[in-house]
Order: sequence, then C-alpha cells, then structure tokens
Amino acid sequence: MSTSTVWFLTGSQHLYGEETLAQVAENSRGIVDALNQGDLALKVVWKPVLTSKDAIRRIMLEANADDSCAGVITWMHTFSPAKMWIAGLDALAKPLLHLHTQANVELPWASIDMDFMNLNQAAHGDREFGYIESRLGVARATVVGHASNPRVRGEIDVWMRAAAACQAGRQMNLVRFGDNMRNVAVTEGDKTEAEHVFGVSVNTYGVNDLVAAVGEVGDAQAETLAGEYEVLYDVVPELRAGGDRHASLVYSAKLEIALRSFLEAHDATAFTTNFEDLGGLRQLPGMSVQRLTADGYGFGAEGDWKTAVLVRLAKVMGQGLPGGASLMEDYTYNLVPGEEKMLGAHMLEVCPSLTTATPRVEIHPLGIGDREDPVRLVFDTDPGSAIVVGLADMRDRFRLTGNTVTVVPPDQPMPKLPVGRAVWVPDPDFYTSAACWLTAGAPHHTVMSTALTPDHWREFARMVDTEFALITAGTTREAFEDRLRWNAAYWRLARGI
Ligand code: MN
Repeated sequence: MSTSTVWFLTGSQHLYGEETLAQVAENSRGIVDALNQGDLALKVVWKPVLTSKDAIRRIMLEANADDSCAGVITWMHTFSPAKMWIAGLDALAKPLLHLHTQANVELPWASIDMDFMNLNQAAHGDREFGYIESRLGVARATVVGHASNPRVRGEIDVWMRAAAACQAGRQMNLVRFGDNMRNVAVTEGDKTEAEHVFGVSVNTYGVNDLVAAVGEVGDAQAETLAGEYEVLYDVVPELRAGGDRHASLVYSAKLEIALRSFLEAHDATAFTTNFEDLGGLRQLPGMSVQRLTADGYGFGAEGDWKTAVLVRLAKVMGQGLPGGASLMEDYTYNLVPGEEKMLGAHMLEVCPSLTTATPRVEIHPLGIGDREDPVRLVFDTDPGSAIVVGLADMRDRFRLTGNTVTVVPPDQPMPKLPVGRAVWVPDPDFYTSAACWLTAGAPHHTVMSTALTPDHWREFARMVDTEFALITAGTTREAFEDRLRWNAAYWRLARGI
C-alpha cells in the first residue's frame, strides 16, 4: 500500500556466546521472512540483533531520522536485559509494536534441553521488556502469538495501517478555502495543537485563488475530462455532450482540474470549502470534491478541517481494503418504533468510494450557496458494517468518538434526494448511540469508513496520544458516561503540569 517500511528489532545479549547469537539472527530473519509472505500492509525490514545499550539507542535514532520508516517492531528472542533499552525507548519517536512471539510453534517435548530453553526464552525475555516499556510509559501495541498465525498477522496489519496514517499525518498539508462556517462551534479547533498532535499543517487560502485556477483551465482539457465522466458514470442526458446543460458539467470538470492542480502545487492531501465564501465560483464544488476524495484526498465541508484530516487518515489506513471512506453528516432520523435508523448525507460531497455501484451524475438546484445549480454524483452507500468517527476539540485535548454501525438499504426509494447518502442502524441501538454521542460532545460531521474497524482507530489514537471513546455493541449509557469522566481525569493528569 505504501513504500514505507517497518523495522524489525531483535533483542538479545552476549551471555550465551556467538553461536547462540548467530542462531538468534537466523531465527529473527525467519520471522521477518514469514511476515513478508503474503499481504501485510507494509514491508518488514530486518535489522541486526541488538546486544548493547549504544546499538539500541543508535538504531532508534536512525528509525526517527528515516522518513520511510513508519514504525518499529521489537522482539526479545532470548533475554535482553531491559536497562539496555531505556535510552533507546526514550529516544524512539515512531510507533512501536511489541511482538511477543517465538521461533518455534510446537514445544519439542522429546528433545528439549537447557540449550533450547536458553535460546527460546522470549516468554520471559519479552516480560522483562514489557516491564521497562510500562515503567517508562511507552505507548505500544502488544501482539501475542506465532508469525504464521492469521490472528497475529491481522493485528500487525492493523497496527501497520495505523502507523501509515500516523506518518501521513506528519506529512499532511491541508488547504482551507476560506474559514469555518460563521458561528458554528464544533468545526472550530486549535490548529496549532492539531499540528503538534497529528502533524497536519492547516492553512487558509483565499477562494479567489481557486477561482483564478479555474479560469486557467482550457475548454479542451475540461471537455476531455467531461468525456471521461460519460464513460465512468451514468450521466443524465441533459449533462452529456450536446445536452442543454453540458456547460455545467464542463464547469465542474474545470473545478476538479483546478482543485487538483492547486492541491498538488501546495503539496496538500486534504482540503475544505465553505459555502458562505465561494468568491467567484459559479458552482458549489460537488462532483469535483467527490472525485478528489475517491482518489484519496481528505475533505471537510464548511471549513471543517478536523473532519478533512480524519477522511485523509481513513483513506491511508484503508488503502487496498474493500470499502471506502467519506465525509458524512448525521442528518435526519426514521423514528418509527422498532425501525429506528439514521440518514446521513451532505449537500453534495459524499465520496463515491462508499458504493460499488455506478453513480449517477445529476444536476439540481441547491438552496444553499447562492450559486448556479451544482453537478453531483448520486448513489446509495453499500449495505454492510461500517464505523463513523468524529473529532472534537475539548479545549485541553482532542477527543475521537467512534460508533460502529450497520449500513442498510433505504426502506423506500428517495427520488427527491439526489445526493450520495447512507442509511444506517448504529450500535448498540439507536437510542443509546445518539445519547452517548451527544454526551461525548461529538460532532455532526464524521468520517464514515466501510473498510476500517475500531481497532484501526484505537491503534491510531494510541500512537498520537489522543482520547478514543467508542460506542459499540455492549455500550451502555451509564458505563459510557463513567468512561468519559475517567477519561477526563486521565487526560488532565497525564498531561503533567
Ligand atoms: Mn455540513
């Protein structure tokens, strides 16, 4: 999914002699080879066995300095006295996975002797390492089991994806066209703190810079892209070449070309727009935003840069997995008893990666934005399991709130709602979900992902030292409210003075 790698560090010591260390190296290479067989998200790079404090500290500094290194996996094959790891763990600034494994699967009952015991003692070597990690307060994932075990591989893959997102955050530039929607609270936030926590650099540009870029796009180039739309999507006749409103489709194509080149010129992977600040744009960006997000850009509407960050992170974490990710907005409910559901959508900008069907391209009036009728992709999100996650600035920290949901088909067609949309039933039930979400102060804009699970977000949250409050099967209002209270205490105490 990425050219990034994770480094595999094996801990040992000199007590058992060179022959044992050679065997340790061979065995750890074997584990790396096993991990690299198949389809883990990132490639694992073997590093020489570590037996001294200085070597450990140096390799951690190298990991920090190497932009292609997304994280570090550690394994104590023999016993690696953990005081040797203090300086290295203190220095490490990349995500850490502690793999508690061993070279052999089966215990060799008939032949086992003390030499075998001394070589294959991760069972206690890793406990020594766990102690120093906990004593130092080092955030890490802990994965237990043999490298050939699908569950182990699955957990490592989740961690790798979160590490890739963490890395993408550090490299993320976010372009805002205009500020937040006036007077809205939840889309505000501390951009300086966001750069410290997530790495993202959030900066505002005048929307007329984009207008100028649209003006530079040639008609022929836009007509070519509009022709591609006719191949890729089910375009209504009035927008097709020769149709009455074809010029609107061409303008949407110009918007897409201009947005893409603007983002590339600013090395940006996420952006926001604001319908209150459209300058000289003739349409509110709709289909252009939808297509850019389908290509992996993050997006938030109404200046909501925090949701744009989440959409980009979800794109990176879910790369190559079935399903997609999009800006979503909790819009309105079906409150018929026993049939409670949520309808999510946005004015225009929901990402078509949420469907495997062919979207329709339509044009309709929009009461918001005070511009010409915008072109948009229209589709229903594929039924299945999904997760919605929102990010709120709680003044002293960011809070990620998640909710596992099941996307369902609409009860009936919605012919007068021509947008990308999703209908879902949240866990554990509609009433508990909505009450907990409101109790958390979580936002109405979210990222919906049909590719990710809570595990991906939990790993990511740990890596960036951010609160993650999950509403899922088994959640009760009472326990969730208590969790928020405990979290509030923890996040204040953990910050120090
Ligand atoms: Mn909105």
